[in-house]
Amino acid sequence: MSHPILELQAAETMADQLKHRRQNLPEREQVQAARNELFRWDQSRALMHQRLDELGAQIEKSEAESHDIDKHRTKLEAQMKTVIAPREAEALQHEIATLNERRGSLDDAELGAMEEQTRIEDELTTLLGQEHALRSVLSACDATMSAAELDIDGELERIAGRLDGLRAKVDAGVLKRYDRLRQHFVVAAATLAGSRCEGCHLDLSAHEVDDVKDEIASSGVGDCPQCGRILLR
Ligand SMILES: [Zn+2]
Repeated sequence: MSHPILELQAAETMADQLKHRRQNLPEREQVQAARNELFRWDQSRALMHQRLDELGAQIEKSEAESHDIDKHRTKLEAQMKTVIAPREAEALQHEIATLNERRGSLDDAELGAMEEQTRIEDELTTLLGQEHALRSVLSACDATMSAAELDIDGELERIAGRLDGLRAKVDAGVLKRYDRLRQHFVVAAATLAGSRCEGCHLDLSAHEVDDVKDEIASSGVGDCPQCGRILLR
């Protein structure tokens, strides 16, 4: 690799590969997986809190209704002591029985809600106990990824520092062509290996090879008739 344009191409190819590697670091996936895990954890926590709020409200409402029923029943029981007419007593008894039934079903529902509350509180305690571990995994993954990025950034900086020097060694006309080609191709300058252009990997005819060799001999660089890349020997 003697020609400066090939050195420039090699440096820029290396930089492209590093940028690609930086984008596709396996550590990036690990960070994303740890973030997803934490997100799911947070969602579960929110759902549990939401359910606990619902149950709390349900229990509170049920207790208020039970309290009203108790008050009403006390009143009816007091009334029972003063009634004389059997039909009136019967009606009161019926009303009290209805209240007792309602009171009973409220108690059952409340008990069920309280059992669910206890169960969810236990689950929530377990869940909250996982937070520290999940956050530790995420920050460890983050740190590993940052270190890998920093490594690559360091290499990229070293390459960037060499580019000006490499470009200064290339003939201005060739450099202009190279820059134009680089807008379309990753590899803009390639070698001619036998009759094959190492840019497009196509074989040139014997006549074309001769032409390219003549171009290289006269101006230093050739031109692939297939892809238009700069060709060197
Ligand atoms: Zn070619």
